[in-house]
Amino acid sequence: GVEDIPPWNLTAAHLLDGLLTPDFSHRSCRSRYEFARYYKKSSHKPPSPYLIAKLRKQEALQRRCGPGTAAHEKALRRLESSGDDDLDGNDDDECRYLVYISYRGLGNRMLAIASAFLYAVLTDRVLLVDGGKDVADLFCEPFPGATWLLPPPPSAGWWSSWWPPSSSSSPLNRLQSFDQESKESLGNMLQSGATVSDETGNVTWSSEEKNTPPAYVYLHLAGGYGYHDKLFFCGAHQRLLLSEVPWLLMRTDNYIVPGLFLIPTFRAELEAMFPEKDAVFYLIGRYLFHPSNAVWHAVTTYHRAHLAGARRVVGVQIRVFHKKQPRQLVLDQALACVRNEKLLILLPETIHIAGNNNATLSSSSKKNNVVVLVTSLSSWYSERMREELGLEVRQPSHEGRQRWRDAAHDRRALSEMLLLGTCDALVTSGFSTFGYVAQGLAGLRPWVMHRPPMWAHDWREDGLQPPCRRVASVDPCFHSPSAYDCATGRDVELDGVAPYVRRCVDVSWGIKLV
Ligand code: GDP
Repeated sequence: GVEDIPPWNLTAAHLLDGLLTPDFSHRSCRSRYEFARYYKKSSHKPPSPYLIAKLRKQEALQRRCGPGTAAHEKALRRLESSGDDDLDGNDDDECRYLVYISYRGLGNRMLAIASAFLYAVLTDRVLLVDGGKDVADLFCEPFPGATWLLPPPPSAGWWSSWWPPSSSSSPLNRLQSFDQESKESLGNMLQSGATVSDETGNVTWSSEEKNTPPAYVYLHLAGGYGYHDKLFFCGAHQRLLLSEVPWLLMRTDNYIVPGLFLIPTFRAELEAMFPEKDAVFYLIGRYLFHPSNAVWHAVTTYHRAHLAGARRVVGVQIRVFHKKQPRQLVLDQALACVRNEKLLILLPETIHIAGNNNATLSSSSKKNNVVVLVTSLSSWYSERMREELGLEVRQPSHEGRQRWRDAAHDRRALSEMLLLGTCDALVTSGFSTFGYVAQGLAGLRPWVMHRPPMWAHDWREDGLQPPCRRVASVDPCFHSPSAYDCATGRDVELDGVAPYVRRCVDVSWGIKLV
């Protein structure tokens, strides 16, 4: 059921112009209705009425079919007995599911979850997120009266993931075991004769007597995936999956949304949902990702203490992928970027002078300061930037290294992505999904520093590169798109394949919505 109605009046601004449902208690999740207050007004238009209708419809689906419902129980039984099909026939009201398999760092996971959600909306599937405790720790539930968390396997103990061999045959109990080699992957099924295609290019499930779709299919869409897995991005294979496959299990570390726009099956629907193409993650991210009260407390406390008093805050996200990358090189690039682009300079009209009175002038001149907010795993960069710039430079944490399955570490990572989003201007590191989330949620178009090649001693060595460039849009980059044109059976140049698809400035083989 629906949670209690908020006792106070929710305005259009609280609900992000209809993007959010009013069906939540405002106490359950503070960030849900306070989020907009911390972010600069974006130039994006409000969500389209069509998108809003689709979201309300998806919420109803998640309620009807989510964990705890009879429909979900039934679908689970069908999955566990996969093979001996037809438990009690195929009803029309049967629910179909998309399970997102947790994979990689938090930025990667957020982009992948947003992509999976959009795919679920397009295909009338219930989205279930395998993120264990971590996701529940980081985010509030996005759907009223339903959970998006995949329930843990029954009697899960610390030993259960590897011993004894799971008594239940459910693939949900061994999600992490799926990879490119799995025989249940779409790519491998297409090669093993599980499907047949006719001369018109139509693909169907094959079987001895009749066409029976499998109970589940694993979608391997992780970076470095092969030709057959990439056929996911073809209309014919989407029609195959749209048919009666009740469960899809998806592993991706990518923002596959630009690829979904290139599938003819979905294009018109997506264009209707998103009149502004570059606002997809901005809207879907703000719809889905409401930081938990613990994370939100950390964000707002830090913001009040260190950022709210500044006239201008410039965020600099430093992400170094290679251990051997000379750090002086990375520092010089960041400094050259903020200086060349004049990001630290207050424009005259933004300088705040309150009256002629000297007393007010000196107190208000405090408000004329610029603060640089640095996020990085190391504290070295912010220390050096403080010396070099002679400005107030802040850094919320320096974790040293990336950690796995560490809830406190992930809470800090999320807090910092959100804090970067509150800045007036943003400089990010190319390739980094951490930066993409910050820019996407905020609707801020950052200056991106290209990643120097590993061997470089100077960022200029990679051609005549400027230290950073303004990205064309706030939407994240899809790092490993399929260039295969399913209709002609040939690879195509993806730049400009649709008027709103471009190459990314930071990843030359990636594409993004603009
Ligand atoms: P990507 O690897 O840059 O694309 O971003 P991901 O978020 O997927 O993975 C990087 C992970 O490293 C983050 O999720 C954090 O756990 C950690 N990390 C990287 N940079 C920072 C940082 O500036 N601050 C914090 N707190 N953690 C970071």
